[in-house]
Amino acid sequence: MRILLIDIDSLRPDRLGCYGYHRNTSPCIDRLAASGVRLEHCYASDVPCCPSRSSLFSGQYGFRHGSVAHTGNRALRYPDPNRGFVDQRDRQSLPALLSQAGYRCAFISSFPTRHSAWHSLAGFDDWRDTGGAGHELAPKVFADADAWLQQHAQQEDWYCHVCFWDVHTPYRTPAEYGEPFADEPGPVWPDAETFASHLLEPGIRSALDCGWSKGGGGPRQPDPVDSLDKLIAFQNGYDTAIRYVDDHVQLLLDRLQEQGVLEETLLVITADHGEDMGEFGAYGSHCFCGPAVARVPMILHGKDLSPAVLRELYQHFDLAATLLDLAGIERPANWDARPFGIRPLAGASAGRDQVISSNLAQGIQRAVYWQESPGATPHCYLRSWDAFEHPLPEEALIDPADPRTLHTDALDEGRLRLERWHQDMPEDFEDPLLQVLAETEPARRERKERYVARLIESGRAGLLSAASREDVSTA
Ligand SMILES: [Zn+2]
Repeated sequence: MRILLIDIDSLRPDRLGCYGYHRNTSPCIDRLAASGVRLEHCYASDVPCCPSRSSLFSGQYGFRHGSVAHTGNRALRYPDPNRGFVDQRDRQSLPALLSQAGYRCAFISSFPTRHSAWHSLAGFDDWRDTGGAGHELAPKVFADADAWLQQHAQQEDWYCHVCFWDVHTPYRTPAEYGEPFADEPGPVWPDAETFASHLLEPGIRSALDCGWSKGGGGPRQPDPVDSLDKLIAFQNGYDTAIRYVDDHVQLLLDRLQEQGVLEETLLVITADHGEDMGEFGAYGSHCFCGPAVARVPMILHGKDLSPAVLRELYQHFDLAATLLDLAGIERPANWDARPFGIRPLAGASAGRDQVISSNLAQGIQRAVYWQESPGATPHCYLRSWDAFEHPLPEEALIDPADPRTLHTDALDEGRLRLERWHQDMPEDFEDPLLQVLAETEPARRERKERYVARLIESGRAGLLSAASREDVSTA
């Protein structure tokens, strides 16, 4: 089997036509979805980028593989006191298992260098660093993927995993690409009234501060986003990047067509996580785990797959189990991943009773999602340990009918579901999320002090959280 997996960092499904977006951001991806399998409710288990891909490659939740953050000890996998001459976990990653079965496995990505995520290379036969540490544009990624495909596409069994970064901030599609959406209305949300309220909200990724910790915006990413015109430019920057990548996805398919293997190749379109575009007052960030960030696109297209839309719940890493099953390879017993119910596969799941998403970026959160009935828009219970000055309650329920509305009553079921999931962790095992909280406390405090000073200096002292106000008054 030939597998081309296209992994578009920070791509929200609801910005694609096949998921209902009104702008034509994704004609190529939409065509694949129309004749392929599209998952409506697929969620990354561990966000942001490094934890998410670690989960995909290992088929496990972050608490098992250990990489749950971007900094500190928990950015790495757990050390293994029982390892022998070879770390068996490296032999049980998705690419390792495929490679052992005779597949040629290639990672076309700067991800290992961007995040020092060397463990992600375990099992790959070939690695092409696309350079730029995630700032490279689609033509460079396409060129490197094309070079590999020219050499290997006609081989019988291969897995080529390609990462595009254009949709990740800073939005920087080349000026010569123009403004494909300049004359089209943008997303209906946030409306003018909601956006005006966001201008009065603090937070490390708030409209007025979204570029603060990143050294500013980008050519198509205003910083700050302090007017409706800039909001439109911000949304256009994101959507234009999607269209730009979609063009390059089409170029990859054209190459496979030229090699005569397009029909024989299983195509997968997905992302490591989505992006906040105003949700919880956050702009251009993936620092929470509400649906805007936790939900990912998942589209599979191949000659043996009947077109379908799956509306049950799945974890993003279930893709790894699905690919193994399609390849006829047994998955390790220690994997959490289970195959999508896309055809009668061994152990295929008709969806999960619930899915989990943890996020240890600027915010520290965990969410549990479940459906009232199969196919329904999921409920989301959101537990926040630290929302970095964004005004989020410690616990909340996200309204399925309006994912931007939070309720703070009727929390029992979500709370119970999360507690039960915690009990699945091994005994005497400390939740890595709590370890990150403890480990990063000094750095977070220092950063928060700088942010609080920024709020005070910019005349926004009134926006400080009660805790920060108390810190300032006792300093
Ligand atoms: Zn990412």
